[in-house]
Amino acid sequence: LNAQVIEGKEIARSIRNRVRETVETLFAERSPRLVSLLIGGEDPSSKVYLANQQKTAAKAGIDYRRVELPDQVSEREALEVIAGLNGDPQTQGVIIQRPLPEHLDPLGLIRAVHPDKDVEGLHPSNLGAIAHGRPRLVPCTAEAAILLFRSLDRPVKGLEVVVVGHSEIVGKPIALLLVHELATVTICHIGTRDLASHTRRADLLFVATGVPGLIRGEDVKPGAVVIDIGINAVEVDEGGKKRTRIVGDVDFESASRMADAITPVPGGVGPVTTAMLMENTLKAALFQRGE
Ligand code: NAD
Repeated sequence: LNAQVIEGKEIARSIRNRVRETVETLFAERSPRLVSLLIGGEDPSSKVYLANQQKTAAKAGIDYRRVELPDQVSEREALEVIAGLNGDPQTQGVIIQRPLPEHLDPLGLIRAVHPDKDVEGLHPSNLGAIAHGRPRLVPCTAEAAILLFRSLDRPVKGLEVVVVGHSEIVGKPIALLLVHELATVTICHIGTRDLASHTRRADLLFVATGVPGLIRGEDVKPGAVVIDIGINAVEVDEGGKKRTRIVGDVDFESASRMADAITPVPGGVGPVTTAMLMENTLKAALFQRGE
């Protein structure tokens, strides 16, 4: 292993502390409230996220609440609940947990959240603000991934950046944010013909596909910075016992021999993402106060 490992836990801790200090100074009367809307019960995959959100909120001084709706809730009823949260002066941030039951359109619900309470940064007006180069609330994972790179204190201008994955929560906002800083950005996805020919050119490589081990050492440019956003649960055989392990989209072993710096999974982008959710809640609270 040659690469510097960019530890997310440290960065997450400093974000949480900063949020808590600001909350204590500016919101001494009442902490900003983050409401997590959970429809149809806890999915096994979101269980860990929810537990992490709750713990992180407590450490950041954010008042975290859950609102639960039954599986069969109609879209109209769900929209009414969201409208209620939009109008509730006690609620500063709203996050809609996914996966949602089949009959609900995620985009329909996301669009219903007031842009100033959209701490996930997914409302068209928040994504549009990024395209305009005036980000307000930015998707937490995209922001976290960029922040891990920034911790190295290197210039972005002129970098060859390759983003693998073009989702609204990760790939697209990362690309838009960095293009504004004059990086040359390539977005790759399932339709990309020769993925490795792109990733091998990248000075800075972001990977968010949900495919464990998609990127291997030979796909990485020597000396590159690799930010692995993937979180995948895989079954591994440990001395005859089957166990579930969390791995990224990058094969850490081989990639860390090529890269100059790399994020681990777990302990990289994940904890910083949850910390950014708290920072976005604080930002949202400030917007709502007109600051
Ligand atoms: P998504 O399913 O919305 O998008 C996947 C993207 O990967 C698409 O652009 C698709 O075209 C591309 N892709 C899939 N297979 C590919 C292949 N073989 N070659 C090239 N491109 C391919 O995913 P998402 O919601 O952006 O999440 C991606 C990953 O990031 C998942 O592992 C998810 O668990 C993880 N994630 C992590 C965090 C975090 O906090 N760290 C947050 C959100 C998502």
